[in-house]
Amino acid sequence: MMIFQSYLGVILNYAIRSLLFFALLCYNILIKTILMLRATGFVLKKTNIGDFDVGYCFFTKKYGKINLTARSVKKPLSKLAGQLEPPSLVNFIFSPAGNGGILTTALAKKSFLKIRRDFDKLNIYLNWCSLIYDFTFEKQKDDKIWHLLKSHTQMLCQKNPLITNVLFVNAFLNTLGFNLISDRCVNCQKLFATKTLVSHDFAKGGFVCSECLNKKSNLVSWELFEIIQMLHTNAKDLSNDKYFIALVLKNYSSLIMFWQCYLKYIKNFY
Ligand SMILES: [Zn+2]
Repeated sequence: MMIFQSYLGVILNYAIRSLLFFALLCYNILIKTILMLRATGFVLKKTNIGDFDVGYCFFTKKYGKINLTARSVKKPLSKLAGQLEPPSLVNFIFSPAGNGGILTTALAKKSFLKIRRDFDKLNIYLNWCSLIYDFTFEKQKDDKIWHLLKSHTQMLCQKNPLITNVLFVNAFLNTLGFNLISDRCVNCQKLFATKTLVSHDFAKGGFVCSECLNKKSNLVSWELFEIIQMLHTNAKDLSNDKYFIALVLKNYSSLIMFWQCYLKYIKNFY
């Protein structure tokens, strides 16, 4: 009887310990699962961390801009890296930690092969990514920027890359609230005539008429100014407007240079 009781005690003890261990395991798995977050986003920037890790900055619909670390992603057997190549739209899972988090799983949802295989299109796309990286704040959800990037990435696959780029930059400036005033002189408030020569005044947020201009270095050609005025009035229908397309293709480089100059100016406010 004594021996039977001692056996029963050992079995009970063992059963209780196993049960406790199992409960602890379930608790750990549950906590980890609860803390894991899912999101969909575009990779804006990659940064090497040490020999094997890579930092990925994503722009997501849910969280805006977030920075995540992918551990051991540069090791030859890593499956993550291939899923995270721009311009892919990626579904991913991460565990938040500190200001960022650890990327655990990633799966490319859409690869946009027409952009990936075209050097000029890819360059334009990467430029959009660095614009969004420079002009958005971390963990601030922004539906407008999200839709802008998503719709224009789709458009970049199908349409002329230069026209798409111009429409994107204009819409991006508009979304940020930094579009220059182009219907009237920012100095004397007089409405502009069509095909007029103006100069830009970034500090005043627009253009200055020929009567008010004093610095010749800021002159903007009337064709360039006409493009900007068209963009500000009917940006939605311009991708099929033959006159607009011809004007942009003729003045593309100077328009991009003008915007680069302006973006450099507004970067001071970030
Ligand atoms: Zn004026």
